[in-house]
Amino acid sequence: MNDRVAGLAAADRVARLVRPEIRALSAYAVPRAEGMIKLDAMENPYPLPAAVRARLDAALSRVAVNRYPDAGADAAKAALACALRIPEDHGVLLGNGSDELIQIITSALARPGAAMLAPEPSFVMYRMNALYAGMRFVGVPLERDFSLDLPATLAAVEREQPALVFLAYPNNPTGNLFAARDVEAILRASPGLVVVDEAYYAFAEASFMARVPEHPNLLILRTVSKVGMAGMRLGYAVAAPEWIAELNKVRAPYNVNALTQAAVVALLSDAGWIAEQAAAIRAERGRLESALARLPGTTVFPTQTNFALVRVADANAVFEGLKARRILIKNLHGWHPLLANCLRITVGTPEENTLLLAACTELCR
Ligand code: PMP
Repeated sequence: MNDRVAGLAAADRVARLVRPEIRALSAYAVPRAEGMIKLDAMENPYPLPAAVRARLDAALSRVAVNRYPDAGADAAKAALACALRIPEDHGVLLGNGSDELIQIITSALARPGAAMLAPEPSFVMYRMNALYAGMRFVGVPLERDFSLDLPATLAAVEREQPALVFLAYPNNPTGNLFAARDVEAILRASPGLVVVDEAYYAFAEASFMARVPEHPNLLILRTVSKVGMAGMRLGYAVAAPEWIAELNKVRAPYNVNALTQAAVVALLSDAGWIAEQAAAIRAERGRLESALARLPGTTVFPTQTNFALVRVADANAVFEGLKARRILIKNLHGWHPLLANCLRITVGTPEENTLLLAACTELCR
């Protein structure tokens, strides 16, 4: 069979076999960023401090890559629990990024007919995973200031009885922290599991971690991606051990690879650098927010993350203008009606932020 015939036969089979809702999707697009100032993906812009890098080098060279990793990832879990202060009696599950944990949680709860609820706009992977798992997705629009619409959310919880609720705390892409009392009210009213996704915890003033013992339906999701280790792909879920035991059954046996496990132990044996870099990012965030707010025609929304959400007069023009100046940010225009003309800008190094601000000053006259 020549390639063309084989291709036709494959296309025919794909059309018959792959679920239509999957065929209708586009794959997650990551723009190319070679040679650009990269402020689009909420990465920490700072490299590892030299001493930490030396610890990492030594640890990685000792990894027995001919063997499967420790299936329970016990040393990595212990390092995380100690460095990031996870209370001892909680269950912990590690994932290949918190993205994988979202998938694990969703597939464990996706009974036929079950619903997932999340505010919108929020992290797009919640909705995507509902679709992958065949769960009904219920999106509840946020208010215009991106706070939770509590009456609408509670009404949707009552009506839909969602098996799963996702609340990003602080929220991506809006950057704000929902009112804790609103999150509490949703936790109390929800019959299902409520995932409080604290991907940006290091930049926020509040956390629900300490409340896990109070709420039998609360799971905290975190990641090391925003605090300097995005390339490692490591997320963690913290909840009552009963939840973790069930979710653990859905996990692929060796989902966290041996290099990542060894790296976590080495990087977190002294974790002071994480807090120091997060503090530097928060300080730069303040500078970025006030400088952006002074530009004509911009609105800067309050943020408790490592990015700023900014509304400008013409988001497409500013985005393209920055790209032409080799600065990559995220254009959210067209994502959701509430995000009209909004741009999401990750906080970079002081030098990167200065270049960004100079470019924005030219583009937002
Ligand atoms: N949750 C939220 C709210 C996020 O913004 C992100 C990253 N954009 C993630 C989860 C996924 O993080 P990772 O898979 O890198 O751990």
